Amino acid sequence: MLKLNIQMFAVPFRKVSKTRKRMRRSHNALTAAGVVKCPNCGEMIKPHRVCTKCGKYKGKEVVKTEA
Ligand SMILES: [Zn+2]
Repeated sequence: MLKLNIQMFAVPFRKVSKTRKRMRRSHNALTAAGVVKCPNCGEMIKPHRVCTKCGKYKGKEVVKTEA
């Protein structure tokens, strides 16, 4: 009997073209998660939290900061 050394896993039938590859990867971009601008000083902070730079939350000073 003839014994064949066959790859037993799925192999792509044909090469994925540059266009197809790029179309697939068009959804792979990462976005900066959960970051908003502080309305007081413009620093990038996490939403619903006191700003670490100016110590303000909803326009009021909550935490004392230097300078
Ligand atoms: Zn701030």
